[in-house]
Amino acid sequence: LCFWTSIGEANTEYLEYKDPSAPLGARIRDLIKRMTLQEKIGQIIQLDRANMTADIIKNYYIGSLLSAAGSVPAPKASPQKWVDMVNDFQKGALSTRLRIPLIYGIDAVHGHNNVYRATIFPHNVGLGVTRDPDLIKRIGAATAFEVRATGISYAFAPCIAVCRDPRWGRCYESYSEDPKIVQMMTELVPGLQGDIPATGRKGVPYVGGKEKVAACAKHYVGDGGTINGINENNTIVSQYDLFHIHMPAYLDSIYKGVATIMASYSSLNGVKMHANRAMLTGYLKNKLKFRGFIISDWQGIDRITPTLHENYTYSIQESILAGIDMVMVPYNYTEFINDITTLIEKNVIPMSRIDDAVKRILRVKFSMGLFEAPLTDYSLADKVGSKEHRELAREAVRKSLVLLKNGKAGAQPLLPLPKKAPKILVAGTHADNLGYQCGGWTIEWQGLDGNNLTEGTTILKAILNTVDPSTKVVYKKEPTSSFVKSGGFSHAIVVVGEPPYAETKGDNTNLTLPLPGPDTIQQVCGEVKCVVIVISGRPLVIEPYLAKMDALVAAWLPGSEGQGVADVLFGDYGFTGKLARTWFKRVDQLPMNVGDPNYDPMFPFGFGLTTTLSSS
Ligand code: BGC
Repeated sequence: LCFWTSIGEANTEYLEYKDPSAPLGARIRDLIKRMTLQEKIGQIIQLDRANMTADIIKNYYIGSLLSAAGSVPAPKASPQKWVDMVNDFQKGALSTRLRIPLIYGIDAVHGHNNVYRATIFPHNVGLGVTRDPDLIKRIGAATAFEVRATGISYAFAPCIAVCRDPRWGRCYESYSEDPKIVQMMTELVPGLQGDIPATGRKGVPYVGGKEKVAACAKHYVGDGGTINGINENNTIVSQYDLFHIHMPAYLDSIYKGVATIMASYSSLNGVKMHANRAMLTGYLKNKLKFRGFIISDWQGIDRITPTLHENYTYSIQESILAGIDMVMVPYNYTEFINDITTLIEKNVIPMSRIDDAVKRILRVKFSMGLFEAPLTDYSLADKVGSKEHRELAREAVRKSLVLLKNGKAGAQPLLPLPKKAPKILVAGTHADNLGYQCGGWTIEWQGLDGNNLTEGTTILKAILNTVDPSTKVVYKKEPTSSFVKSGGFSHAIVVVGEPPYAETKGDNTNLTLPLPGPDTIQQVCGEVKCVVIVISGRPLVIEPYLAKMDALVAAWLPGSEGQGVADVLFGDYGFTGKLARTWFKRVDQLPMNVGDPNYDPMFPFGFGLTTTLSSS
């Protein structure tokens, strides 16, 4: 039996931690007892896979790796290549004295979005519209399959930010401005991890087997409430708002067994979260009895001083004492190891704090079966981008669309469009651009422009797939009004919106519809009946163009399955989505959320028109 193997010289010793039939607590205690300080320190470090070798993992006893966006084995790598890469690193960990497996993490935030050919689901801003927790759970399960298929066991999702100001560059990672919708969407947790079995305990991390991954609720807490929506800034809130707006979804996630929670770069009432002992240890661990591990954000501990790396020893000391258990990418891991060793030797950081961090990390690793099955085979590889998963994404797209206008005053509704028409025009920068449809966090951190990034269906392609063979479809990205006038079109579909962005790059103080979107609307909608589809991570200022349009659809960032847009546009399905965000008129109204005094939106929270199914 494998748990009767040897450590170094000690032959035929029974190793309780290796015995899957031993109780979890006993396995953890047994392993911690055997670990040296250097092994414990390695266990709490997560490094990026770029420039990584199995030897580094072995020599420093590294406990975790991640593939940050773009940190992939090779461009367009196959699932098998990913498996090989992760296995090679895992073998580094398995060649250490105690053979503690790595936990490997990735930002699978709308499907397995760093991986070529993976199914790209709508970003959270669209999923919130569906108000369909069962759908979200199924998306979680599909995502877990695809992530596991590439050898990876940990996803940095869900983002349960409650975005209160759309000027924030990460607003699209938030399901809603309404905490209740965000709470519903924590069903992603059991989707990714599996349901806690009847014998399990609420609040204790649970990851159910080989087709599931550890989840990560992020970014704790109040990331969506920063001043003017400035990324990584300060969130100033009353206790009441903190516990009624930003905190509830954490309680749900913990109740559903979330394995990990990521600290936010932002501050809460002036205190950096990575150094906030009251909120990390006092509240999460002591009060809520969260038993998983708290992970820092990328170089998050480095940012607790006013300037980066101002006093690294202080950053390590304050963040670890505050309750950070796993440090994501310390900017210099050898310096981190030296510094923390000294801090522990001097008892500035007590050994009990390190043991607590290690215990939490091991609890997740044991509970998900990593010790028993650290290596991955290719058996799930065909799940990546499978037909079944793409169908699910298409369903999510259909349910995420919000119909904001349908017909000018006194006129007939324009939608659903007939499949049979002599000649139609498709226009706009976003009509045939898969990268724009997917947004940030897709193959690259900042997203990509064009159709060559991965596989999927653009909205143009979807329209071509849907219309009657006799319908002539003309596609012109930026048509002039004379082109439109002389074209003899029965109607036009204009697809415009935001280019992709991620994190601070997306912070935006004017939220206007980017050029040439407004021009295209003017040129086309002045000449022919038109539906405008907006592809964006948030509501944009639309009032100046609204009167010109016959119909307006918010499609958010739908991902790889553009077919879902055509399904609804042409009436195979009805519009069902209701705004999960307030559609403001002007930026000077912001922040403006449902329930606020002086609420005066363009389209209120909960708004969404419906259509009848087409008979064609
Ligand atoms: C983001 C996190 C993400 C991490 C790892 C950070 O910049 O804030 O949301 O999980 O990077 O890629």
